[in-house]
Amino acid sequence: MSTNFLFILATRNAHKVEEIRALLRSEFRFLTLEDFPSAPDVIENADTFRGNATKKSVELANWLASSEHLKSKQEKCANIFVLADDSGLEVDALNGAPGVFSARFAALDSGQNGNSSDAENNKKLLGLLEKIPLEKRTARFRCVIALTPIIFPANETSSPACFADEAELRREIFEGACEGRIAFVASGQGGFGYDPLFIPSGFENSFAELGHAEKNKISHRAKALSKLCERFL
Ligand code: IMP
Repeated sequence: MSTNFLFILATRNAHKVEEIRALLRSEFRFLTLEDFPSAPDVIENADTFRGNATKKSVELANWLASSEHLKSKQEKCANIFVLADDSGLEVDALNGAPGVFSARFAALDSGQNGNSSDAENNKKLLGLLEKIPLEKRTARFRCVIALTPIIFPANETSSPACFADEAELRREIFEGACEGRIAFVASGQGGFGYDPLFIPSGFENSFAELGHAEKNKISHRAKALSKLCERFL
């Protein structure tokens, strides 16, 4: 039964949490990183969405398996998974950039660590595409979701390395993409990230203008999560 599953969302991005919750509705129970303030920050240094999603999901699953934080929840629910979303925008005229650097696209120029603001990223993207005509502004959002079970050691003497390997072996991947194009100007107030610049194929409005309900029917995240639902429901 789906309600026996507890998902821990491995993200501090409130927009992603909101979308994932809306897309999975009440079928599953959730916790987020807000429930685990001491959870370690995972360094996203893989060169693919799949690599980063796996890293976030497996590292957090192993930390939770070996920490005291889940003891009480473990008693109530045997099927606990860490769900990590790694996503971003690929622009064809930029050879797939910003890709895995979507969150820190503008910061790459200044050598700063950490993410840039959405406004800075969008400004940089518009600048780079300034001379690119409409027909060459094709792009897509990609979302890769990694789902890793939390495997608790059978007893105090079990080797942490063994259950860590087992967790990684049992990690599953769900992917989704949404094709579209990059607008010449930002429009709309909804969504986050590059939403004001992204016009999905078949529409004339940006994701930010279309709003949550419409975005959640066609987005990269919706497609990945619908595959996840098929697997569980
Ligand atoms: P992540 O947290 O490392 O996966 O970074 C994802 C980044 O990609 C976000 O910070 C956004 O800039 C961008 N992104 C991912 N999904 C979306 C979306 O649905 N809309 C707009 N931007 C997105």
